[in-house]
Amino acid sequence: MADKNPELMEKIISLAKRRGFVFPGSEVYGGLAGTWDYGPYGVALANNIKNLWWKRFVIEREDIYGIDAAILMNPKVWEASGHVAGFHDPLTEDLKTKKRYRADHILGDNGIDPTGMTPEKMSDAIREKGIKSPEGNPLGEVRQFNMMFKTHIGATEDETSISYLRPETAQGMFVNFKNLLDTLHPKLPFGMAQIGKAFRNEIAPGNFIFRLREFQQMEIEYFVHPNEWRNNFDTFLALQKDYLVNDLGLDEARIHQVEIAPEDRAHYSKHSVDTEFDFPIGQRELLGIAYRTDHDLKSHIETSSVDLTYYDEEKGERFIPHCIEPTFGFERLILAVLSNGYMEDEMNGEARTFLKLSPNVAPVKAAVFPLLKNKPELVAKAREVYQMLKKEILNIEFDDNGNIGKRYRRQDEIGTPYCVTIDFDTLGENPELKDTVTLRDRDTGEQKRVHINDLASLIKN
Ligand code: ATP
Repeated sequence: MADKNPELMEKIISLAKRRGFVFPGSEVYGGLAGTWDYGPYGVALANNIKNLWWKRFVIEREDIYGIDAAILMNPKVWEASGHVAGFHDPLTEDLKTKKRYRADHILGDNGIDPTGMTPEKMSDAIREKGIKSPEGNPLGEVRQFNMMFKTHIGATEDETSISYLRPETAQGMFVNFKNLLDTLHPKLPFGMAQIGKAFRNEIAPGNFIFRLREFQQMEIEYFVHPNEWRNNFDTFLALQKDYLVNDLGLDEARIHQVEIAPEDRAHYSKHSVDTEFDFPIGQRELLGIAYRTDHDLKSHIETSSVDLTYYDEEKGERFIPHCIEPTFGFERLILAVLSNGYMEDEMNGEARTFLKLSPNVAPVKAAVFPLLKNKPELVAKAREVYQMLKKEILNIEFDDNGNIGKRYRRQDEIGTPYCVTIDFDTLGENPELKDTVTLRDRDTGEQKRVHINDLASLIKN
């Protein structure tokens, strides 16, 4: 079990804000619980993480198709999926402050395993053990709370106009299953993939971007013959880890795959494995994979009366495909990448903070500086090198703010793997060093002189 490190979490939140990764949502109005906004480096980091995922799971494969479905869906979708009836979390209220808590979390914090407990059982446990709210007040009866955000579609606000903001991206794929069959005629096994927003009215959002009310998911629905679920499940479970370690550069020792007990699985799942990560808040769920059986397609057939079966021409067999769902919570990936990379050390006698990000995900691949800002010939040469690199590598930054030490500190905290400095030797003050620059390594601080012509390939590799 990973230790909790609230101090580290505070440092990450502070760095994320200071360097323009993640800002509190609606901050000038005091924020809005469960929402955060991405700043420029956050967007760049986010795009890298999404692009690596899309490349691995969609572009490089012939059997997975990308889609992008609407967030607002016909409310019947959520009746069929079981979310209207069953997408609940257990809620209990501090009877004095009226603050609301997840009853299962309160029990867990008090050493009681809430796995498989009904709300009634949770109420009993709270009563019997005399458990109080974190403020020390009595707690009310536990009841189920539906986490979907309700809204009204159109000008009339009554029962007939109710719709929901989607609590998962998955259903957008199930309702497009037939469109995919009819247009691209894929053969089983095949999948659909989507990256998009999901909304959950979490009872207790918090822990920075770990538990949000508005977040993003990257999900795959992979359709298989019912006899083929197990091998496909295991393959995707391995691929999830591979993505975390080899694409995002997460430390393998901090990743734990945990099988979920039957009574703790989502209502649609017959087998689930969560991938947990050692976050600063302890070992917690990063992403998951579920065997959704034919639950969703079958429910949509029953509710919509549309035929969502698959016909295997070779075997002459018609059936409802079963589904394996690897799901990746996007913000938790960002938090994992930031906490995995957050480092403190000492360099040249000074304390320093840096983000040891994999170059795959680093928002800036290299930063180019003129040694001095007020020497036009240095600035011109630095601009020339910057333009040259930018043609070959997209995320290159030009930086001439403050002194060189400040620039290094800034780039270290952004996680930029390399800094390139143009100095008087580059201009030919020492003729032997003409057209060479210093290339500084983020992790070691080591600087070496390299020729401008070798820069792009050195940075890329
Ligand atoms: P948890 O148990 O933490 O509430 P969950 O098991 O309900 O999560 P899933 O329904 O499996 O989550 O959703 C898939 C993924 O979406 C999760 O693995 C997680 O990474 C992410 N996720 C779920 N809820 C949130 C949230 N409120 N904020 C941020 N990410 C979330």
